Amino acid sequence: MISYRLFVPVIILTLLVSCGIRTADILHTDSLIDAKKASMQNFTGVGGFSVDMPAEVPGSSETEEIPELYYTVYRVQKGDMVGKIAEQFGISQDAIISINRLKNTRGLQIGQLLKIPSIDGIVYTAKKGDTPESIADRYRVSLEKTALINNISDNSIEAGTLVFIPDAKLDWVTLQEINGDLFRKPLRGSYYISSRYGWRNNPFSGSRTFHNGIDMATNQGVPVYAALDGRVSATGFDPVYGNYIIISHHSGYQTMYAHLSAIQTARGRQVTASTRIGQVGNTGQSTGPHLHFTVYKNRSTINPSTLWN
Ligand SMILES: [Zn+2]
Repeated sequence: MISYRLFVPVIILTLLVSCGIRTADILHTDSLIDAKKASMQNFTGVGGFSVDMPAEVPGSSETEEIPELYYTVYRVQKGDMVGKIAEQFGISQDAIISINRLKNTRGLQIGQLLKIPSIDGIVYTAKKGDTPESIADRYRVSLEKTALINNISDNSIEAGTLVFIPDAKLDWVTLQEINGDLFRKPLRGSYYISSRYGWRNNPFSGSRTFHNGIDMATNQGVPVYAALDGRVSATGFDPVYGNYIIISHHSGYQTMYAHLSAIQTARGRQVTASTRIGQVGNTGQSTGPHLHFTVYKNRSTINPSTLWN
């Protein structure tokens, strides 16, 4: 565990940086840190619960103290959830998700080993053109702390380097994706999946083809909704997909709704996840009324069923 002695200066450092005070100025804040520590040592919480502050180690330098980054291993137990494990270790679920590259928090397996960092933060892979400063700026975290934790001594970093960004959180979209609740289902009533995403025997040609979406079978005329906020980028008729709608969303997402019996929107319209855009049909190459639904991320298809609960 990290002691309060280590955390107090770091918290103050972070607060000062976020107030726009330069790190050079922070090197002269020993008195401020001491005052803060003194007040915390005397802190007595509600109900007489007192916080025990560790004694000062002689000769230690306050401003140089950055908590050490190390990892412990945790074995997932029955009933565990990422949020619960994170709480247990006093870190955010973002830290566990990012460090273990979890793609889906619902897919945790009993017995699975998770790396748990000693301090809160996320892992980031440096891209071409990144500098330690640009990374710290983007995540609004302390450059000094980031540099110290990662042993970075100048303002350059090689693409592909893994950087631990202390105190950083995953962006909203990433977190929604991982938690599986970014999208809403385009059908709100009952349906069954008549064909999944992936390789299948094509019902028309008989050959193995890649099914780039999911087929949601239901009754003709059932309302179809946009799966996420966005703008309609195309509507039309295609010999394979029948009547279709394509919507462009944030973060490089696009969705396609095909085999519709009716299109009830138009190119350029803004939609939300509660906008009715069309009706389920059997147009194009289709063996019965169903919605073919494809999700693109940066023009590559992804499995839609990983995007919702
Ligand atoms: Zn399909």
